[in-house]
Amino acid sequence: MKKLIVGNWKLNLDHLEAIQLLQKINYSLPDGIETSIDIVIAPSHTSLRSIQTVIDADNLSIQLSAQDVSAFDNGAFTGEVSSYQLKKLNVTWCIIGHSERRQNFDETDEIINKKLSLLLNSEIKPIICIGETQDQRNAGKQVDVCLKQVQEIFKNIRKDRLHDVAIAYEPVWAIGTGVNADPEDTKEVVKEVIDYLDSKSFDIDKFRFLYGGSISPDNTEMYINDDNFSGLLVGGNSIVPDKFVEILLKSK
Ligand code: PEP
Repeated sequence: MKKLIVGNWKLNLDHLEAIQLLQKINYSLPDGIETSIDIVIAPSHTSLRSIQTVIDADNLSIQLSAQDVSAFDNGAFTGEVSSYQLKKLNVTWCIIGHSERRQNFDETDEIINKKLSLLLNSEIKPIICIGETQDQRNAGKQVDVCLKQVQEIFKNIRKDRLHDVAIAYEPVWAIGTGVNADPEDTKEVVKEVIDYLDSKSFDIDKFRFLYGGSISPDNTEMYINDDNFSGLLVGGNSIVPDKFVEILLKSK
């Protein structure tokens, strides 16, 4: 299965800076890299239009993701951006359930479930984040926590709408801390999630499992060579062009 590398630019860069970063990354990539990896970048909503224009105009082999989507279709929801609006911008992917949204904006699995449903209706591919906090891991609850997240998020989701789905296992304690999880410690969560989805007759071939949490060029190969994962979700280092390119080159 092709590797999927996602750069989450978080709340950084205006649209002009975003174009510059995209161009720096693109110029450093060898021709044909898209045959071995799917490269995805997730800029802020305000940059989506500009980035999409550059990708389309220059026919770049980089795919566009949003960082979030509204749980509502349309109507009186000031400040929200819908899946329909993202689709109109040729957005291919969308991150949902990132721990920064769960922690800072009280996002629940129920809300993430609604977002997933709307993304699938709009034919946008979901990148669904799951993961436990440090306290939950200390208590040995990482499998229970992640399984419950998956159970809630996939409740009543139509299987025929799922074609290309990424689940990013991101232990919360590994995000932005410089402390990546030991691949050995990630195995049980990924295995239990796969077993659960399988037991509910989801077609597991349509899922790619990503690792996220303090990915750097130094630890990339450790996860890329691990059969558990088909890719990476990169935060901080995705806006450092040299580092992101090194991560991509090591993922080929
Ligand atoms: C993330 O934002 O999903 C992430 C994994 O961040 P970082 O790589 O900075 O830990």
